[in-house]
Amino acid sequence: MDHGSVLVVEDDPDIASMLRLYVERAGYRFHHASDGAGGLAAMQDFAPQVVLLDIGLPDVDGYAVARSIREHSDVPILMITARDTETDAIVGFEVGADDYITKPFSPREVIARIGAVLRRASDPMPQSETLSAAGHVIDLGRRQVLVPSGEVVRLTAREFDVLVYLVENCGLV
Ligand code: CA
Repeated sequence: MDHGSVLVVEDDPDIASMLRLYVERAGYRFHHASDGAGGLAAMQDFAPQVVLLDIGLPDVDGYAVARSIREHSDVPILMITARDTETDAIVGFEVGADDYITKPFSPREVIARIGAVLRRASDPMPQSETLSAAGHVIDLGRRQVLVPSGEVVRLTAREFDVLVYLVENCGLV
C-alpha cells in the first residue's frame, strides 16, 4: 500500500539505511539525500509528503534547509536532532519544523511521528472559529492568537488552552 513518500536528509549512512528499512516497511516510498543541497533538489524532484531533516549536515545545517523549504512548501518537516535542548527545539519550530526527534530514536517512534504529522497535514483545516478579546483574535482552528497589530503570539498548548478557557468564561468568577 502506498502511503506517500518520505524524504530523509541525513548524512549518516547507518541512520539513513535504518530509516529506509522502517519507512519502506511502513508503506512509504523512501527518498534519501545526504546533504542540504541534495535535499532541496529532492524536494523538487519527488515532492515528498513529509521530510525528515537532520540538523548536522555536511554543507548547510538543517535549519537553513528548513527555511529554504518553507519559502515554497508547507510539507511537514520533522527535524532529527542529536542535541536534546529546549533551545534547539525552539529554533526548529521557528524555522517552520512541525516536530522533532532526538537521536538516538527508536524506528517505531519515527514511524509514529511521521503518521502523526501526515494526519495533521491531511486534515482539512476546519472553518476556523474565532474568539476576540480586547482587540486580540483567538483562532481556535489554527490555535493562534493575533494581537491587534496582526502579529501571531507564540503560546504553548497549555497556555493557549488556559487563555481560551479564560476568554470563554469572561465575567464569571
Ligand atoms: Ca548528521
